[in-house]
Amino acid sequence: MTTPGTALITGASSGIGATYAKRLAARGYDLILVARDQARLTHLADNLKQQHNIQVEVMTADLTHEPDLLRVESALTNNAQITLLLNNAGMSVEGEFLDADIARINTMLALNIVAPTRLAQAAGRAFKTRGQGIIINIASVLSLIHEMFNGAYNATKSYVLTLTRAMQRELAESGVQVQAVLPGATRTEIFDRAGQSLNDIPAEMLMDVDEMVDAALAGLDSKEAVTIPALEDVQMWHDYDQARGAMVPHLSRDRSATRYRQN
Ligand code: NAP
Repeated sequence: MTTPGTALITGASSGIGATYAKRLAARGYDLILVARDQARLTHLADNLKQQHNIQVEVMTADLTHEPDLLRVESALTNNAQITLLLNNAGMSVEGEFLDADIARINTMLALNIVAPTRLAQAAGRAFKTRGQGIIINIASVLSLIHEMFNGAYNATKSYVLTLTRAMQRELAESGVQVQAVLPGATRTEIFDRAGQSLNDIPAEMLMDVDEMVDAALAGLDSKEAVTIPALEDVQMWHDYDQARGAMVPHLSRDRSATRYRQN
């Protein structure tokens, strides 16, 4: 029987990443679990090995540290068993942009932007050579929202969305599938870790992590490019994206718009 290969999951020790690990294990994937907390990763690995009769490797890594990032990058480049990358590890920071600690923001940029960029390129190159593979990049609905939350966090997620869409264009005929997932508020530890409380979020805006990941995997199975688990009317997304696309031919011209000209 053929197996789907190995899925490398960043941020696998809790929340969305740990939930994907369980779902992908149930689909028969072998796993490489990446995060900093070795004890939690080992505990999850032991359970999943036992329950699903799969291989699970624990790779302890701080993705904001260059040598650790290099190790994960080189696994993606050199391990031909890897068929799926889940670019999921991420963090937010306490407070609005102007109030937030700039050192924390710096770490966030390393984790939410630099690490997924490096890993997506390593996986994209390796999968393209092999003519198959899946890359899932976890963005956020905040990539589309300027009205609330920490602007620097939202911007990291806008970056992930833009990068994903550009990768989809580059890999269109390659056999490699690339998906952006835009979760809304999801019940995980990310809020606690940034000094926030889940209780501050209206219950009707907060999704359980199992439901979020199941929706994202349904979107993957139906080959969606961008999956927004909470959005009931998907036409709203298509209209938004179409309006953006309609502007493209008009955004770079040899003359300024008439409203800006002196005469
Ligand atoms: P979470 O429960 O806090 O999980 C974050 C994961 O990232 C953990 O496994 C954590 O593990 C890992 N991580 C943190 N810093 C790391 C580092 N320096 N190096 C390596 N791994 C690190 O939060 P989550 O909600 O599942 O977040 C997963 C992704 O979903 C993030 O990209 C987040 O931005 C995105 N997202 C979340 C929500 C939401 O409402 N929850 C909404 C939209 C998008 P260790 O501490 O063991 O390293």
